Amino acid sequence: MIDLHTHSVYSDGTNTPAELVQISEERGLSAIALTDHDTVGGIVPLFEAGAGSSVETVPGIELSAECAKGTMHVLGYFIDYTNAALLEKIDTVREGRKERNHEILKRLNKLGYRLMWSDVEKHAGADVIGRPHFAAALVKRGLVKSRKSAFELLLAKGRPAYVERYRYTGRECIELIRNAGGIPVLAHPATIYLHDDQLRGLIMGLAECGLGGLEVYYAEHQPANIQKFKGWAEELGLICTGGTDYHGANTPDLKLGTGFGQLRVPDEALEQLKAAAGK
Ligand code: AMP
Ligand code: ZN
Ligand code: FE
Ligand code: FE
Repeated sequence: MIDLHTHSVYSDGTNTPAELVQISEERGLSAIALTDHDTVGGIVPLFEAGAGSSVETVPGIELSAECAKGTMHVLGYFIDYTNAALLEKIDTVREGRKERNHEILKRLNKLGYRLMWSDVEKHAGADVIGRPHFAAALVKRGLVKSRKSAFELLLAKGRPAYVERYRYTGRECIELIRNAGGIPVLAHPATIYLHDDQLRGLIMGLAECGLGGLEVYYAEHQPANIQKFKGWAEELGLICTGGTDYHGANTPDLKLGTGFGQLRVPDEALEQLKAAAGK
């Protein structure tokens, strides 16, 4: 069993990379990839933890791309996490997050939610602070009843405390991952929020720009979705990858490897990524 989509405290997960390795070992996983948002800070700790365990550790990242309606994320596997261009580009993204976080806080205060930056920071990861940390802080302060309602009322796209931030286009994400020796994979395609024919067209365009894989197996994908995405991936010559999008206590019902219970990511997904990356 493998899981190619996980988050640690370096972004918006609640486990350290070493804890992720330990949980994977306990659950009998043979490999995990760490795919924190906009940071490679957890990769060295992941490797260090992996070295003393039975779990193979895969370096990864998750980048957010510009997207009209929904959410478009591009995963990058086997990136060279010391690549200067990659580091510079993700630094720009993190700078953009700082401006955005400042604005989100201002909006929340204006809306009457008395939250301070120190409240948010308390929930923050090592490298990246984002909306999930605001949600946690709002719950902790008793200002909303759950993280989910924090997003629904305030933080989700279109809600009053939502603020845009600097993002690259899908094509730019693909290029920067490729230039760092990685394999770009389109994450959770359903969240792009397009009808099938448009979504398929978009994926085809990204494939022409160098996309290498599609996240077919995902905790929230119904069997019919898995079949559909698998069909598209095969037609377009994309590797079928998958993972849970584990965020630790931020995704309490979800288990590493199996998601909500049904998920099984084929081991060959990792073999194919490795072959593509020349590993
Ligand atoms: P950010 O990178 O700061 O824009 O935050 C994005 C993260 O917030 C995603 O990766 C999810 O973990 C979380 N998120 C986004 N939308 C929602 C939502 N509607 N409900 C719960 N969590 C969400
Ligand atoms: Zn996340
Ligand atoms: Fe994502
Ligand atoms: Fe993710």
